[in-house]
Amino acid sequence: MNITDPLAIFFFVLGLVLGSFGNVLIERLPKNKKISGRSQCPKCKKQLGNLDLIPIVSFMLLQGKCRHCSERISNQYPLVELGSGILFVIALLITPVSVFSAIFLAVILWLMLIMSVIDVKTHTIPDALNIPFVILAIIYSYVTGYIPILAPLIAAGFFFAQWRMSAGKWVGSGDIILAAGIGFLLGNWEYVLVMLGVSYIAGSLVALPLLFFKKKGEKEHLAFGPFLAIGTLVVLMWGDLILRILI
Ligand SMILES: [Zn+2]
Repeated sequence: MNITDPLAIFFFVLGLVLGSFGNVLIERLPKNKKISGRSQCPKCKKQLGNLDLIPIVSFMLLQGKCRHCSERISNQYPLVELGSGILFVIALLITPVSVFSAIFLAVILWLMLIMSVIDVKTHTIPDALNIPFVILAIIYSYVTGYIPILAPLIAAGFFFAQWRMSAGKWVGSGDIILAAGIGFLLGNWEYVLVMLGVSYIAGSLVALPLLFFKKKGEKEHLAFGPFLAIGTLVVLMWGDLILRILI
């Protein structure tokens, strides 16, 4: 499979479109708003037309501003669309079995992206995304081999222990569910340990400069969802290589 393959281009476009839908979920899920219905400009409240809703392209044509009131549109929109497109192509390139399993993996990675952005913005991970993520991860593990037991237990147990010890201060209950899903996705416990290692290294690389420059107080909570997502992606792409180097 090559990234200029028509199938890869199809996955990329599908990812862009789902990324656009992801932006709708990011805006509306935390506020318990209806998912259906047209998007509008948050400032002038004018409904967006079809030409305003083409992933990436609209943002570039409008130069990042609302057509009606020139209010700046957040970079989050094109970034989530592009990220989603890239994740769809990655899913196609790394899935071990078939196009069918690639679609599952693509949606799983897409869910992790959406949950990560919501976690950064609101410090919660909605169950409306978390639970489907776990279910899809179980199905994916079944389609590509077997449903693991130890990996999800270790991943979820690690966060459950921290959640219990800190009475929910260090990690949220959403992290436990997310970690269980990641355990099912990765399948073996060695991968889970590497994922945790990479997540904590990535987390420290972000947290230490923030602490140093006092942008975040020591007691403030850094959303951990995005780092779990990064750790998971790294293990999915290079897990075998990392294990070979470590062992
Ligand atoms: Zn506007």
